[in-house]
Amino acid sequence: MIIMKTDATEEQIAQVITEIKKYGLRADISKGAFRTVIGIIGDETEVDFARLALLPGVKEAMRIETPYKLISREYSKLIEGENEHRVIKVGNIEIGGDNPVFIAGPCAVESKEQLLRIAEGVKKAGAHILRGGIFKPRSSVHSFQGLGAGGQEKAEEALDWLREAGRKFELPVITEIRGESQVDLVAEYTDILQIGARNMYDQDLLTKVAKKGKPVLFKRHFGAGIEEFLSFAEYMVAEGNKDIILCERGIIPIGKGKNYTRYTLDLAAIPAIQKETYLPILADPSHATGRRDLILNMSCAAIAAGASGLMIEVHYNPAEALVDGQQMITPDELKDVIDACQKISKLIVPMRNKK
Ligand code: PEP
Ligand code: MN
Repeated sequence: MIIMKTDATEEQIAQVITEIKKYGLRADISKGAFRTVIGIIGDETEVDFARLALLPGVKEAMRIETPYKLISREYSKLIEGENEHRVIKVGNIEIGGDNPVFIAGPCAVESKEQLLRIAEGVKKAGAHILRGGIFKPRSSVHSFQGLGAGGQEKAEEALDWLREAGRKFELPVITEIRGESQVDLVAEYTDILQIGARNMYDQDLLTKVAKKGKPVLFKRHFGAGIEEFLSFAEYMVAEGNKDIILCERGIIPIGKGKNYTRYTLDLAAIPAIQKETYLPILADPSHATGRRDLILNMSCAAIAAGASGLMIEVHYNPAEALVDGQQMITPDELKDVIDACQKISKLIVPMRNKK
């Protein structure tokens, strides 16, 4: 990391970048309210920081020993000052601002009618963003794989419904990208690109998705530690895309015998991650619990823990859903969740914003 003096000139900044490029490395340039900070992207072992520190306009040059730095508070503090929270704009919606954001919709898009009916319901309940899986990650090849599995034409048709439903009810839309071949197609239709838990480690996919320049919802793998999760988020920010929304969706439960929840919602990870990074973090109580009767409590808990919003699976008749019916709530229930969460958020956000 190279911290420039407050009065450093453009030429001096350019000279530092030239020096970094000589090592075959890339530079992330952040021009903040206070000063310009240049982050080196790549393997820094060969970099002579003492020499960089002597370049004109440089205040300090130092090695940062964390696997993620571009997303770290340590880094943003130098650029923007204390207590930065990145606010990611999607249409008129702000993710990471003072109001919690609710992403809701079916686990999987099943038909145009199903999607439009759910979109209408979640909009009325107060949701801000519409979700709907088209390329579904499934544990069994014998289960419904999402309409995207039916080939390019089917995938485009379903993506078109999603976009149409979003436009009709004024909801930005999000769907998961499960593989590199889907990136260009999905990015044409949706406002946010989702990377699912199972793909958290796929750095080629992350890079390709980040390059689209659209906000990315990045879900934590169920076996990933916090440092790993943040390190992989760093891959996307290193591509110049800082609009990364983190999502805690539960980790593998411990112990023998029946677990009673699908995963363990790692609530403490939410404030712990918020101490580390300025990126917003959401929670997904649906996949974390796998139980609709736990959604209200865990939603409240996640907002109390400092989540900037939630992703919740909703269906007008969960019993009818082809996927994840057991964890889906109805639009009426979603309304109760949103009302409760908004009250809790009003208590929590002022504390977060206090310096
Ligand atoms: C999803 O949100 O549709 C999903 C499959 O979640 P996860 O990747 O967290 O399992
Ligand atoms: Mn699901």
